[in-house]
Formats: sequence, C-alpha cells, structure tokens
Amino acid sequence: MVGSPSRLPTFGVLYGVRGKKEALRSRKGNNETKGIVMENKLYFSPEIMEWYRETLRCFGSERVEKSPTDTDVLCPVHGDRNPSLGADLRENGRGPKVVLNCRSQGCEYQEILDAVGLTTTDLYYHEEPNGKPSSAGCTIAQYARAKGLPEDFLKSDAVALEDTEWWGVEAVEIPYADEEGDYVLSRYRISLAGDRKVVSKKGDTVMPYGLNRLDDAQEAEYILLVEGESDCHSAWHRGIPAIGTPGANTWKPEWSHYLDGIPRILVIVEPDGGGRELWEKVVAVDSLFRRLEKVVLS
Ligand SMILES: [Zn+2]
Repeated sequence: MVGSPSRLPTFGVLYGVRGKKEALRSRKGNNETKGIVMENKLYFSPEIMEWYRETLRCFGSERVEKSPTDTDVLCPVHGDRNPSLGADLRENGRGPKVVLNCRSQGCEYQEILDAVGLTTTDLYYHEEPNGKPSSAGCTIAQYARAKGLPEDFLKSDAVALEDTEWWGVEAVEIPYADEEGDYVLSRYRISLAGDRKVVSKKGDTVMPYGLNRLDDAQEAEYILLVEGESDCHSAWHRGIPAIGTPGANTWKPEWSHYLDGIPRILVIVEPDGGGRELWEKVVAVDSLFRRLEKVVLS
C-alpha cells in the first residue's frame, strides 16, 4: 500500500520549528552558520545550538519558542496539550545543559526523561574528542519512542532494526539492502541526540538507504529523497516511498540511476539548513533535474 503525495503534510511533524533568525548573530560577523550572542555575552556555538534543537526534537514537533534558548515543549508525562514543559538551554559548571521544568503539573524529572528515552547525561552537551561515542547509547525502544514509531514496525522484516552494541554502548543496527532486498551492510545508531548519531564500520562503502523499496516508488510514481535513515522510517511507516542518503551531504551522482523511471522526486529541505546541500547536489545531475521538486518544511 503506497500513499499519495497529498499525504505529505503529515511528514512535517518530523521537523523542528524554525528558529528566530533575527535573534541570531555571528560572533565573528561572518557568513558561517550562526551561533548565538546572548545579552550577557554568553556564547553558544552553532554545534551547541544544533545539539539543543536535536534534543528538543525528542519531545515532538509542537513547541513554543520564546527565544533561541528558551523553548516550551509538550510534557510527555501528563498528557500536555499546550506546551508547558520548559526546555531551556543554560550554562552551568559542567557546560551547556538543557534544563527541564514542567510548569503546569510539576512532573517528576526522571519520569519526563524516561518517557522520551533520554538520560541525565543526554541533557549535557559533550565534546567528542576522538571519535568515540560520548553518548549513553540508543536502543530500539528509545528510538521508537523518540520518533513516535511503533517498535513492532521497526523490528519487522520491513525495517529489521536490531538492538546491538557499538564500542561498549547500546546501539541500534540499521541494515542496508540492495535492490533485490539482499543484505549489504549495517550502520549503527549510537545516540538519540548530538552531532554523531549514526556511524559506519571503518572501510564500509556508502550507499543509499532503502534501495529494496524502489518498487514501491515505481508504483506510486514518486519518491521522497531524505537525509538519514530516521526520516525514511517515518515515511515508510506512513506508506510513503522514500530513499535516504546515509547522513548529510553524501549523495553521489552515480546513485542517480536508482531513481530511473520515477517521475517525481521530492527532496526534503529543512529551513535550518539540513537538506540544502543534498538539494544542490541532486539538482546538478542532468538526469534528475526535470523530475525534482523541493519540499521546504517550516
Ligand atoms: Zn508534566
């Protein structure tokens, strides 16, 4: 069963709310991704801001942004309908931290964390000095809760995720298949939040995610092109044919033949920058150019 493009707006729940760009100013005044200069001169780097936004995403898409560092999200514990859980970015002795406070019901801190599959450690920003995972790991159950997807679906043959280990931390194995559905390699989700969420084994080749589902796209006559595996999972669960790049900015022109015969290719571009480089890469491919449509989520 394959959905129609008219169902696409539901896909928007995956994405964060656009930041208040006017409040962002670069410390150096250059054109690189903007960090934040607070009135009290406290500086949060672009990496920290991205980590903060990623952490907010664990609480779903509905939120009120009061400032770039002050956000109200839905409390996962008490059946919140209007965002009343403060999730603010602060600096304390251990560095940047997300501070949670359920203002309407005073829900227990630990219950809130459990409900979204985060740990106290996840609420602190960690530098990653030597490429080893700094996170507390990730299980299918946590991943399912954070993405609002059924665990059964993720473990089913359709996706075939498995709980495993990566350098001593819990990880979710994400198998990649070829067009025939034969297993080729795996990538590993090692964290729910942070800069480095999915990793590959050294020496493994890179390939698009979801090649075994191209038949669905042929039948539906469109496909969603997304960055990363998790957007594929969300799309597939909604019956939307999708193919993903393994991480950001990795589309290779020689992959374009996989999309032969699919009349519409919808590229998801997030306002905060995710997907923009993917768009620039695919739009430069002659054989794709006429079939591309940019879907900008806000
Ligand atoms: Zn609450």
